[in-house]
Amino acid sequence: MKECLFCKIANKEIPSEFLYEDDKVVAFKDIDPQAPVHILIIPKAHYDSILDIVDKEGDLVGHIHKVATKLAKDWGVAEKGFRLVNNCGEDGGQSVKHLHYHLLGGRNLQWPPG
Ligand code: IMP
Repeated sequence: MKECLFCKIANKEIPSEFLYEDDKVVAFKDIDPQAPVHILIIPKAHYDSILDIVDKEGDLVGHIHKVATKLAKDWGVAEKGFRLVNNCGEDGGQSVKHLHYHLLGGRNLQWPPG
């Protein structure tokens, strides 16, 4: 989508350091980290939110989970634990309307979130 920030990052229109990239997804550091490790994993294709993933694209979500576990291992948070978060919609706290997952780790994360 033309004016979507995360599309621009995925398309390299906005320079960004990718921690992971393949044909389906990219991962990069969150600009406002909420934990020592805070990585965003996004599909290259635009989906407003998880609600836009239809059945035939279900493997995309599985793929994102696989990438997240790889990154958790690579960034040293797999052993002690981490959180993989998808915020959806206004009440869910989604501020960027391009599907993304937060990988958070490196500190003792509290529950419930705010
Ligand atoms: P949301 O609140 O779940 O939609 O998360 C959006 C996330 O994107 C927030 O954690 C922001 O800090 C992050 N963010 C916004 N703009 C940028 C950027 O340009 N680069 C990296 N992260 C960003």
